[in-house]
Amino acid sequence: TEACLTEIDGAGALNAFVHGTADIAREQATAADARIKAGDAPDMCGIPLGIKDLFCTKGVPSQAASRILEGFKPEYESTITSQLFDAGSVMLGKLNMDEFAMGSSNETSVYGDVVNPWRREGSDAKITPGGSSGGSASAVAADLCLAATGTDTGGSIRQPAAFTGITGIKPTYGRCSRWGVVAFASSLDQAGPMTKTVRDSAIMLQAMSGHDAKDSTSADLAVPDFEAALTGDIRGKKIGIPKEYHMDGMPAEIEALWANGREMLKDAGAEIVDISLPHTKYALPAYYVIAPAEASSNLARYDGVRYGHRATLGAGDAIDDMYEKTRAEGFGAEVQRRVMVGTYVLSAGFYDAYYNRARRVRTLIKQDFENVFNAGVDAILTPATPSSAFGLGEMKNADPVQMYLNDVFTVTVNMAGLPGVAVPAGLDSQGLPLGLQLIGRPWEEGDLLNHAYVLE
Ligand code: GLN
Repeated sequence: TEACLTEIDGAGALNAFVHGTADIAREQATAADARIKAGDAPDMCGIPLGIKDLFCTKGVPSQAASRILEGFKPEYESTITSQLFDAGSVMLGKLNMDEFAMGSSNETSVYGDVVNPWRREGSDAKITPGGSSGGSASAVAADLCLAATGTDTGGSIRQPAAFTGITGIKPTYGRCSRWGVVAFASSLDQAGPMTKTVRDSAIMLQAMSGHDAKDSTSADLAVPDFEAALTGDIRGKKIGIPKEYHMDGMPAEIEALWANGREMLKDAGAEIVDISLPHTKYALPAYYVIAPAEASSNLARYDGVRYGHRATLGAGDAIDDMYEKTRAEGFGAEVQRRVMVGTYVLSAGFYDAYYNRARRVRTLIKQDFENVFNAGVDAILTPATPSSAFGLGEMKNADPVQMYLNDVFTVTVNMAGLPGVAVPAGLDSQGLPLGLQLIGRPWEEGDLLNHAYVLE
């Protein structure tokens, strides 16, 4: 814990931690030390973590990187952070992220951009760690903490993990409680660990998982021992390679990396099969209807009355002026865009044409995966992202749809509620990390992590 606190002090330029909790960390570390000495220490005991700012942490600023939650200190602890703290983990501080987890580059945060500790060979231009869990990714990659919590609505654990050369898993929807995690798109949101290794992900996911009566979508299922599943034995497993993930214009080195991953799994005794997920091309457009729709509803609660920021009002201002001014000042441009898109697709005249149609597409995407798994496929291998990390500022002012294209390989997994893991797979010709993604059967995170373990 002390070593991490020192590292954090020296790493201000990454802008990964936005709120330090050194006092809490030292107290928790002392308590953990006592448990370890008493021989009563779970695996996560004494492990110093960074916590994404999307998690409500009792008495500690929890702003979802938004101005609208300025000054908000929750009265309660999220279920996941409670579970981690009960297991003896230590909170070093809160981590930067895209505002309300909306973004793929960590450039929408009220705290400013997060910087990736990696650089292109021969260049000191700053590059993005990805988003929205960019602070988590950067902090783990730069050794500011041993692991971090992340959340993933359309790729926000897996894409930043790939961009920073670390491992991250989005569990099956319902595996981890969403209680106390600021909601973005409730039917897609899942928290998960971001770690150095697959084994660390297995151990940390174990501590984060389990049923929670406070989240009606949390599954009342036993949590298997994920670490015990890491045998490295995948003989006889069937790995699907979806033909729709060969995208036009994808860099040749990503194709090569993907082929290399196939070889590694084959060498370990798995059978590689070509599969088709025919509705893949509709996933991104459908996601960008469903996610904003749910966000517009979830974000309606930020009205200047109940939380954080409230605009200064003029003499003639009525209550709706207060709402409007507060929301105009409190939400950044990307969040406002999502609220407008979401409100539009849910409006009486367009609900069937957009929102309901997107929901039907979502069912088709889910069925694509079910068909493949029913045909005996154990895991699906794809690239994690269509490129390596891009430069900060490079995409910021471009057409927002360009930024959305980053999620092309990851959103299908959230739409289908499946577990997906990103694992580091090597460096590109610029010296930047690239990741591969494995997608697994629902509730079989252990088996999924075992496949990732072979690639590691
Ligand atoms: N980049 C995607 C978005 O902006 C996904 C974000 C996430 O998973 N939280 O919606």
